[in-house]
Amino acid sequence: MNSIIYPTTNFKHTATLIIERGDGAYVYDSNGKQYLEALAGLWCTSLGYNNHELIETASEQMSKLSFSHMFGGKTHQVGIDLAEKLSAMVPVENAKIFFGNSGSDANDTHIKMLRYYFNAIGKPQKYKIIARERSYHGVTVASASLTGLKPNHTHFNLPFDALGVLRTDAPHYYRNALPNESEAQFIDRIVNNLEQLILLEGADTIAAFIVEPITGASGVIVPPEGYYQKVQAVLQKYDILLWADEVITAFGRTGNDFGCKTVGIEKPAMMTLAKQLSSAYMPISASVIRGDMYDAMVEQSAQVGVFGHGYTYSGHPVSCAVALKTLEIYQRENIFDHAAKIGAYMQKRLHEFIHHPLVGEVRGKGMIGAIELVANKKTGQAFPDGTVGNFAMQACQNNGMICRAVAGSSLAFCPPLIVNKSQIDEMIEKTAKSLDQTL
Ligand code: PLP
Repeated sequence: MNSIIYPTTNFKHTATLIIERGDGAYVYDSNGKQYLEALAGLWCTSLGYNNHELIETASEQMSKLSFSHMFGGKTHQVGIDLAEKLSAMVPVENAKIFFGNSGSDANDTHIKMLRYYFNAIGKPQKYKIIARERSYHGVTVASASLTGLKPNHTHFNLPFDALGVLRTDAPHYYRNALPNESEAQFIDRIVNNLEQLILLEGADTIAAFIVEPITGASGVIVPPEGYYQKVQAVLQKYDILLWADEVITAFGRTGNDFGCKTVGIEKPAMMTLAKQLSSAYMPISASVIRGDMYDAMVEQSAQVGVFGHGYTYSGHPVSCAVALKTLEIYQRENIFDHAAKIGAYMQKRLHEFIHHPLVGEVRGKGMIGAIELVANKKTGQAFPDGTVGNFAMQACQNNGMICRAVAGSSLAFCPPLIVNKSQIDEMIEKTAKSLDQTL
């Protein structure tokens, strides 16, 4: 245990909980204690643990073809099939798919493809990307440049601004609205800020606006209704592409197949997928772009030669096979409909916490939600740091449930899509007990 350097962990606090196995919506530690996995791992184990079909699929694919790369003209059938299936599912027109291993590297791919595309259509100066405050898009140097959370930048002394990332407001009404500002006024103000930023920088220098339809790591921010309609109108006016980072929100998580549908985003030009794409049985991601962007890159490639980007494991056949099977199970077992039904129940139950003295706001859609813990319920005054959130998360763990403290003092919930009503009740009861212990 002591030889590991842990990701996103304070070096002073090493890991103490050894997770040994999982089954359905539960995981078990090395002492045999059971935990309800109320964050689906890291927002990813949609079909839960120990799914025999996925295990057999991986095993069969390993026997048949454990590895083959996709560089320089090679391909394999399971990769082709997965790309076809995904292309037919996503709301991106004539979608073309580039496979990677993680959400972060998929976003890096997108950054490069954007530049390659705008070079191809003779607009090399159109390379800047607008991202929002408090967004999370990954941790590689390029994807961390998109991420708008301080801890992902602090102490690295890296030129995160060098890629031309511009920042605009997080659409969080509860935290960012001015006194007495209505939701409609809030939307108008922050969308106007977006337009002013575009005018200041020059629309011909801005390639895309990246959004998580509903955020995850920054505390499950659900923008007020109407926000994306106005955002899309501005982007269309200035010919700026909408890039939906659906690493968390895709595949039934928010009550629809894609988060875009839930929040009213129509036809994004680009989409990032990972996590639930394979129910996290194997690492895989997909950078999805519109067909006409791909066509322009084909022409560019004819002139400049190789598209010099790709990972050894781009289109790993075992990951592709598992992802393909995951999508098949989603459809065959109507998982998205189930998630929409259970999600409505989960939101109803989560909203009961608004009456708890520690809770300032309850947010969420479908099967993703958060409760924000506050120092003063009346004024909404936040806690100065994440201590209380971490305490509540630890209390949940002691009570046999895993959730996650995010964005300081919000507790996030994102159970596997396969949970039933009584498991949602279990999640609520364990949270209630833990909050009372946190008071
Ligand atoms: N984008 C979003 C919206 C995410 O939530 C995440 C991870 O949580 C990422 C990108 C990065 O994905 P990964 O951790 O697989 O690199």
